[in-house]
Amino acid sequence: MIIDMHRHLVVKGTVQGAYIQGAAKSFSMMYNKANKTSLTPRQYIDDVIRKETDDHADNIIVEMDAAGVDLTVIFAVDYGLLFGEPPIHIFDQNKLYADVAKRHAGRMIPFMAIDPRRKGALKHCEQAYHEWGMKGFKLHAGTGYMPDDPVCNWVYEKASEWKIPIMCHTGGAPSVALRWENSRPAYFASAAARYPEADFIFAHAGDIGWWPEAMQAAAWLPNVYLDLSLWQKPYRKMREGEFQKWLRHLTDMTGADKLMFATDAPHPNLHCRLPDWVKVFTGLGKEFSAEEKEMILSGTARKVLKLDA
Ligand SMILES: [Zn+2]
Repeated sequence: MIIDMHRHLVVKGTVQGAYIQGAAKSFSMMYNKANKTSLTPRQYIDDVIRKETDDHADNIIVEMDAAGVDLTVIFAVDYGLLFGEPPIHIFDQNKLYADVAKRHAGRMIPFMAIDPRRKGALKHCEQAYHEWGMKGFKLHAGTGYMPDDPVCNWVYEKASEWKIPIMCHTGGAPSVALRWENSRPAYFASAAARYPEADFIFAHAGDIGWWPEAMQAAAWLPNVYLDLSLWQKPYRKMREGEFQKWLRHLTDMTGADKLMFATDAPHPNLHCRLPDWVKVFTGLGKEFSAEEKEMILSGTARKVLKLDA
């Protein structure tokens, strides 16, 4: 079984224009370097990203089937308090994610994206959890709050009570006015230490700059897990075999029971297509045991998502 722990839908009206303009500068630069093209940010949006749009996410199921991915965790990002509200308010986006997951029942699990500072956020999340069947939180502290600030406590308390994980963005961000430092793994580690009953997933395992810090948190704290999304980009840049060596080291330090296969699609999938990213893991050599591969591809996620409970 293969579970993608981290993916976004591409649906019109879910992302602010200001974010798209800025982010396209970073994403087109990375895309051009990876694919030896010279698209402008505008062309990147029009010619590359728009093709991924599907309000029902049927295209994602096709992609998953082609790659042998059984289950995908999906969620939006709540940038609204920083960039202004997108055409579809985040509360409605969460509902949209819940509805898409229902359409593809058994193939998708929805998390609720929320800025803990929002008015009415707790009430909204209670409905999303109890009525819409949403199975986790997604936080992006870069929008302007610190992960260990008391403003976040209600999220950690509800995650503990409801026994659902919190997906935390850790790592870099594109050229928009997000606070980089807020997404340092150490800050989420401090929160995780205070809430041992809640499971924290450090998205992108800290990314290329902070992965040792994320690794340290996962090695120390029983309730910290790492998703390997976004690593398609460094994988493509690394010399032959270097990614596997890095993953071996990470696995040695944290255990495979802390690591989860993931993509952060759409963007990273344009650097390394889903079937190819899956093959990187199914094709890991004998330096990885069958159990370790199974844990990374789905076993750890099954535990965190309580699929066997
Ligand atoms: Zn993401």
